[in-house]
Order: sequence, then C-alpha cells, then structure tokens
Amino acid sequence: MSAETKEGKIQKRHRVGLLGGTFDPIHVGHLMMAEAVRSEYGLEKVIFIPAAVPPHKLNRHIAPAEDRYRMVLLATQSNPYFEVSDIELKRPGPSYSIDTVHAFLEEYGEDTDFFFIIGADVIPDMGTWNRIEKLLEICEFVAAQRPGCKPDSEELRARFGELVAKHIHTLETPEFEVSSTDIRERLRKGHSIRYIVPPEVEEYIYQKGLYRDEL
Ligand code: ATP
Repeated sequence: MSAETKEGKIQKRHRVGLLGGTFDPIHVGHLMMAEAVRSEYGLEKVIFIPAAVPPHKLNRHIAPAEDRYRMVLLATQSNPYFEVSDIELKRPGPSYSIDTVHAFLEEYGEDTDFFFIIGADVIPDMGTWNRIEKLLEICEFVAAQRPGCKPDSEELRARFGELVAKHIHTLETPEFEVSSTDIRERLRKGHSIRYIVPPEVEEYIYQKGLYRDEL
C-alpha cells in the first residue's frame, strides 16, 4: 500500500503484525501462524505480545509473566522478522488489545498499518472485547486456520456489518493441532513435548520445572 504526500512523493506504508497471547507456553502453532501471515501479507515484522493475565481471571494456575515472556524471547530469537514486546506486562490492569494498538500507533506513526494475528477460534469471542468496534476500525485482523474451528464471524457481522467484512481476513495456513493446554497436560503426565515447542523452550521448561504439577 502507498500514499501520496503533499509534495507528491509516493510513500510506502509500513506493515506490522501483532500477535497477542497468553503463551503459556509458546508453541509451534503460534510460530507457524506468525510466519505464514508475515510472509503472505508482506509484513516487515511480527511483534509477539505476551498478555498480563491476573490469576483470578483464569480457573487454573498460570506460569509467571516473566517465564512466559522469556520463553517467547527464546522461541523467536532465530527469526529476524520476529520481535517481542513487554508492553502488556508493564501496563497495570487488564490487557486490552485496544490500548496496545493505540500505544503502537503512537510509537510507529500514521504511516503504519497494523495486522492483528489471531487463530480462527478467537473470532466468535471478539464481540466481548473492549471497544471492539474502534479496534476493527484502526487495524486489520488476520485469522489463521485452527483445527476443528471454523472462522465463525456471524454474530460479529450481525453487530458490526461492513466493518467485519472489511477488516477481518482469513488465511489458509498449515494446521497444527497443538495448544498450550495440551502441552501443559503432556508435561503433567510426564510425556514428551519435543517438536511441539522449540528446543530452547523445552529446555527452559525443564530447567525451571514449569507445568509439572498443575494444568
Ligand atoms: P490455551 O490452550 O492455554 O488456551 P493457546 O494454545 O490457545 O492456549 P494462546 O496463547 O491463548 O494459545 O493463543 C494466542 C493466539 O494464538 C490466539 O489467537 C490463538 O487462537 C492462536 N493459536 C494458538 N494455537 C494455535 C494453533 N495451533 N493454530 C492456530 N492458531 C493458534
């Protein structure tokens, strides 16, 4: 995409991907999805954004933010297009995507388009997101296939019509039937997680003794 400046010069717009998640822990499904969207949407980079999750918001134990953040750093370090942001971990209170996108818009300026990367399972929940209408106006969403999930945007379309059609895109990606829940369960049972997470993440999990006891 490009835009003409007042002086008549053609200016290329920047394209940046954002991938938010709990990453408890990060796995190949996240990495594959980020890389597929980056390459097919011509993104300059994808920024991984671990969410601050107050323990009372989940009915399960969650690994400390510091560990989830470190595992995302380890998992992404070999890809020059991947970055990690601790913006949501530093911000007090709940992690609202709208606040995160606003902060990035401020940092990057008006000549950057943001592509919010999600798994198809997230679409039906988006109606409950804080200020979702505004969020749909200010960034693009790219939903990657996830096994067993149809990208169901019926309810969102009924509420936000054209905004949904214009700003939520779906992308056919290789599907990996993997989730953080499944990884935590494997670890609890003492089963292998080799090849489901990058080797550096596997080593970190064992070193720190994460996910041994609780789901
Ligand atoms: P949990 O099992 O704990 O709910 P998760 O594996 O879904 O975790 P999250 O950190 O909650 O991982 O997900 C962050 C984002 O990555 C979400 O948009 C989610 O839909 C997407 N995602 C996670 N796993 C996959 C996968 N295997 N394929 C496609 N998208 C995925």
